[in-house]
This record gives sequence, structure tokens and C-alpha cells, in this order.
Amino acid sequence: MNEFLPHFEDGRVKLLIVVCQCFKADRMIRIDLLQCWAARDTSGYLSPFHFTRRENEADDVTLKILYCGVCHTDLHTIKNEWGVTNYPVVPGHEIVGVVTKVGSNVTKFMKGDRVGVGVMVDSCKECECCQHDMENHCPQHIFTYNSPHKGTTTRGGYSDFVVVHQRYVLHFPYNLPLDAGAPLLCAGITVHSPMMYYGMTEPGKHFGVAGLGGLGHVAIKFGKAFGLKVTVISSSPSKESEAIDVLGADSFLLSSDPEKMKAATGTMDYIIDTISAVHPLGPLLDLLKVNGKLAFVALPGDPLQLPVFPLVGRRKFIGGSYFGGIKETQDMLDFCGKHNITANIELIKMDEINTAVERLSKADVKYRFVIDIQNPYPRVTFRRSFFQHFHVSTLLSQVSQYFVDVE
Ligand SMILES: [Zn+2]
Ligand SMILES: [Zn+2]
Repeated sequence: MNEFLPHFEDGRVKLLIVVCQCFKADRMIRIDLLQCWAARDTSGYLSPFHFTRRENEADDVTLKILYCGVCHTDLHTIKNEWGVTNYPVVPGHEIVGVVTKVGSNVTKFMKGDRVGVGVMVDSCKECECCQHDMENHCPQHIFTYNSPHKGTTTRGGYSDFVVVHQRYVLHFPYNLPLDAGAPLLCAGITVHSPMMYYGMTEPGKHFGVAGLGGLGHVAIKFGKAFGLKVTVISSSPSKESEAIDVLGADSFLLSSDPEKMKAATGTMDYIIDTISAVHPLGPLLDLLKVNGKLAFVALPGDPLQLPVFPLVGRRKFIGGSYFGGIKETQDMLDFCGKHNITANIELIKMDEINTAVERLSKADVKYRFVIDIQNPYPRVTFRRSFFQHFHVSTLLSQVSQYFVDVE
């Protein structure tokens, strides 16, 4: 077999060895190895990888992943920019798919349900946060990937399937497309949660969206659905027509134009700040009216300077927000179903992920990459009887071209 090995990605070699071992042992072959893509080091380069998911237990839902969004957190994690990455890391926490198996205690889901999994897959279930639908703030919450969990490390949605406790699985609205809906699981809840919690929802109020990327473009849609007047605040003049004509914002404010910023002083009731780069806060705070509110949802790498005068003198408020609890995430999805809200996406194949990551790092995406997990490349299913008619060299040549599912 050695002469063939250099022709395969390492993951496929492992799979092939398992196939051959099972074949040799004359057993029915049931393989739970799954195809996924992982980053192995700080280069951030992703390549095929195989591992075995944990077993489906009584409270678990197994879902076949159909689509997975590509979030900025994926980018930070694969390059270990926050210093916490355990390699190999399989990113992805904007997961949508179909339930293929439920444990004996599962009551919320049935086989065939369209479901989503977002940023977390477990928490302690007992603390004050967990008991009040704020699992996202549980000190022991488990991220969907790169978190130690049950003796292993969680691995995310750049993969064929995932096993998740039913509490952390969401019903996906029947009327929304799964691909464009995937980013709601992180980008959607990240902007929806602070809008709800801080009361940025009163119809007719003026809502500023600072930064127009994956988060900002969804914030525009929520703002319009709540009946707000939405203004995009951006330093890129090229985004004006996109914000208004494509995404439905009411107006555009060029933050690099001091005259326009001055003219807009004290005109906004709420601002959601989605800018992940270090940026001055004074100009944004100046835009708020008395009692105005600003919520941060991005994570600049360095501390921002906070001018206190406008807060004290005009009773302005600043807060932060960190994705969302399970109940509010379900509420957000239901709201999106009712108002037909999805993300604007660029659908990619799994093997285009490295180009997508490169483009994402340059903010070159409108507005979210979503991976078509179910169609990474031509896929064929071989049954064992099929193998019996072929010499192993034929099998090897097939595997060199296709991923093989065996059952
Ligand atoms: Zn995310
Ligand atoms: Zn807890």
C-alpha cells in the first residue's frame, strides 16, 4: 500500500486503512470517522482531518451538518491570536443541519428536524446563569470548538456531523434557507441579544450601526424589522450605496468626514458598535442623544479610551454583550423566521476555505462566507458488496478521487 500513500491527504490515508482493516476482518463496516477540516498550527492553514465524535448519549442530538458559517472568531482561533488554541482545531459555530439520531431522553427534537447549533454546546446547567437562560455567561460553558469537554476537545462545524446535548440545539425556522440562515447562530444572536437586553427596539427611534461587516449587516436587518431608523456609520465611502440600496439602511454617515459627524451630533438613540479594530469612542458617543445607549459586540485586541464627560454630562450609557443564551437564541431565530431575516452570504465549498479565510482577514466578503458542508466534493457511497467485486487497487484509485462512506 505504501506506494499509494503519497497520493492521499493524510486524513484519507487513515480512513483507507480503517476500510481495509474492516474489509480484511470480514465485518460489516460502519465507520464513524468523519470528514472535517482542521488547522494544525499558527499558519492558520486548514486541511482535511479525521477524528471520531463522542457517542450519542441519552440527552444528545446527532445532526448531519449541511452548512456552516465562517465567523471572525474562527479566524482568530486558527491563527491562535488569542493564545488559547488547542491544535488541531476544527472551527465553526454557525452550524445548521438535519437531525439524524436522538437519544432516549430527547423530547425536543425528532429525526429529520432542521436544527442549528451556535457558539456553545454545554454548560453546568445549575448555576444562576444557567437557571436564568444565560448559559452564555455560565462560568463553565463549553464552546462549540476548542474547549475541553468530557475528556476531549470540542470540534466545530467544518465537519460532517456533530453530537450535542439537546439543551444547546435550536429549532431552525422552516421557512428560512439553511445556508443564508447559518450565520444567525452567531452573528445574528450577537447583535440581537444586546438590542433586546438594552431595549434598542422602540419603533421610530434612530439606530446607528457602527461598522458594516458580518455583524453590522445583520444589525441593519434587525433594526428595520423593529421599525427603527437605521444609519450605518462607516469610514468607507464605498459602503454607502451597499448599505442603503442592498441592505436597506435609511442613511449613511461617513465617520471619516468631520463635518458630517458634527452635523449628526446628538441625533441617535442607540448605537451598536461592531468594529473589531481599535477606534476612538468620542465621536460615536457624540452621536448619541441624552440617555442614548451604545453596545459593544466586537472585541478589539487592545483597550479603547473612554471619554467620561459625555457619559456623565448627557447621561449616556455604554454596555457590552456576548452572544446569547439558548432561549434568546431560539427567540431570535423565531423572530428571523417571522420577518424573513437571513444573512447575505457567499457560499463556498469546503476546499475553498483557505481562500475564504484569507479574504475574510481583509474584510473582503459580502457579508458572510458559508461553507456548503454536504457537497465538499463529489461523493459516492460504496456498500460492502460493491467492494467484493473489485481488486483493492481499484478501491485505492477510487479513494484517491473521492471520499468514501461505507456502511
Ligand atoms: Zn462567531
Ligand atoms: Zn452554569
